[in-house]
Amino acid sequence: MEQIEEMRAGGYLPASFLDWEGHVAAVIFTCGCNFRCPWCHNGELVTAGGGELSVKKIIADIKRRAKFLDGVVVSGGEPTLWPGLRPLLAELKELGLAVKLDTNGTNPEQLRALIDEGLVEHVAMDIKAPLDAISYARLTAVPVDIAKIHDSVRIVKERARSYEFRTTFVPALHCPEDLPAIREQLNDDAHWVVQCFKPTGCLDGRFLSYTAANPAELERLFPGISIRG
Ligand code: SF4
Repeated sequence: MEQIEEMRAGGYLPASFLDWEGHVAAVIFTCGCNFRCPWCHNGELVTAGGGELSVKKIIADIKRRAKFLDGVVVSGGEPTLWPGLRPLLAELKELGLAVKLDTNGTNPEQLRALIDEGLVEHVAMDIKAPLDAISYARLTAVPVDIAKIHDSVRIVKERARSYEFRTTFVPALHCPEDLPAIREQLNDDAHWVVQCFKPTGCLDGRFLSYTAANPAELERLFPGISIRG
């Protein structure tokens, strides 16, 4: 419980129809991230060490409204940075609420433990770039232990009950060959979604003036892949 008390959130949606398809879900946005994607649309959340919101108070609100919810989305930031994540998910499970976990895949050990304990119903894992260290550093602006990302991809594919991989296409940072490379590396079209960069809330203010990705163009280039505008 102590670990949950230390958890801070930068945002909370009491009920969302958009963040988990087919679910009415509360959404908790935990503070802090170990990546610094300049295009990140949650820029304020990423650099916030401790947000305004106590996760413990959020749980109290979710408890009151649990019967109106199908589940809870735990997003960030990067939720696996918080030691309180496991006890938080265990508490949500006790309430009978399914959990969707958003992650950047940098903590495969924790991801595996959470999945194997049955604490996560659905994993949404970001695939920032082709799965090599140089490409990942280009999109995330930090050095990345790419072996951990590979491990997480494998764990999610082999063990998660339900999952998706998500790539946000950022025209200013991705090369033309990046999306075909990711597609080939994942080899899992049914679970790969390409999202379009939008110039809002960006961690690096320069990206606010950059052009959004064009969903129609992506659909033309990648027939058969789910594109989110
Ligand atoms: S987009 Fe990058 S910086 Fe932003 S929350 Fe996700 S991993 Fe962190």
